[in-house]
Amino acid sequence: MSTPQPSRFTFTRRQSASNKTPRQINRNLVFNLVRTRQPLSRADLARVSGLQRSTVSLIVEDLIKEKWILEGSTGRPPRGRRPTFLELNHQRAVIALDIHPSQTTVAVTDLGGKIVAQNVVALAEDPNKAIQAIIASIRKLIAAHSDKSFDGIGISLPGRADPLLEKLIFAPNLKWPVSSIKSRIQRATGLHVEMDNVANACALSEVWFGDSDGLHDLVVVNVSEGIGTGIFANGQLLRGANGMAGEFGHVQMDTDGPLCGCGGRGCWETVSSNRAGLRYYQELSGIAPPQSFAALVKMAQADDVYAIKALEKMSSFLGRGLRMISSALAPSEIVIVGDITTAWYMFGPVVEAELKLNALSKEPRLRPSFEGNTARLRSAVALVMNGSLV
Ligand SMILES: [Zn+2]
Repeated sequence: MSTPQPSRFTFTRRQSASNKTPRQINRNLVFNLVRTRQPLSRADLARVSGLQRSTVSLIVEDLIKEKWILEGSTGRPPRGRRPTFLELNHQRAVIALDIHPSQTTVAVTDLGGKIVAQNVVALAEDPNKAIQAIIASIRKLIAAHSDKSFDGIGISLPGRADPLLEKLIFAPNLKWPVSSIKSRIQRATGLHVEMDNVANACALSEVWFGDSDGLHDLVVVNVSEGIGTGIFANGQLLRGANGMAGEFGHVQMDTDGPLCGCGGRGCWETVSSNRAGLRYYQELSGIAPPQSFAALVKMAQADDVYAIKALEKMSSFLGRGLRMISSALAPSEIVIVGDITTAWYMFGPVVEAELKLNALSKEPRLRPSFEGNTARLRSAVALVMNGSLV
């Protein structure tokens, strides 16, 4: 019988695999420049990136060979050699799944995370029927895009699941068992499936798509039916025992607060999630809240006084919780994901004012995700692509 490897070796191997080398960082930079500024030439890339022409050429050849990017049209300069423009390989695509308690969005996206097509599937109470509906929707999208080659399927989940056993470990807001969803979708489609907690996936996405460089510590706070946080520290996701790191949403803020899905009372998410926003609206106005949180945000944007007050209260509690994160982890950046970011110009300042009351740690940069409320779908692309580009 062989002796089990000492755990420190595993740890070191994992560390070196997830920490990017300068070459990988440059490769990611070049890919992201093509993604955001396509079409552009090698000379443009050298100028914008500040890298040497020869370095850019080598990276571009690699990316073309691996079918990440393509040589497209040729430019017509007034004189001199015609440059060849580079663009993303739009032939390659990913299926992205964003699971919510009552519905799932199924989308086709390109390698840059751009949504090509999407369907919203209402989830039946019966988990078997729900999974069947999701699979049918995936098949329909694949058939409608038969010109594309699919790299895989990414699933972002509002809960924590054991990646190997697929056992759902913690998902207080999900009334619906997802225990076999990964293997069932894999079997039904023949595609590789990656599944992770939505906040972890969003943290990975911020790094993968180059909005953050992966060198600085970053926390993503996903504000939805509950609150989830993904922590990217020292060049990798912080997972903790059983993958449970980052459950700040279930730290108690108010001993007399509302009952939480986790069984506790007054958890941070009970006072600052979308559900709290809807509850505040009812408490303040005395009338039933709108059907969805997105509708409440629209009401606030249309100057509904109670909607504004409800969302300000929610934002203030959100900021208070961020102080706890800031003191505990001292990240360089906190990124907010969720519908609240669609009215960030109204409520961002309320969140920021609360965060700034922190006297302990250096103030982190606070920003909404650049992708607004499609960030969750794009994060599913990052799950599939993670580890394959860099
Ligand atoms: Zn809780």
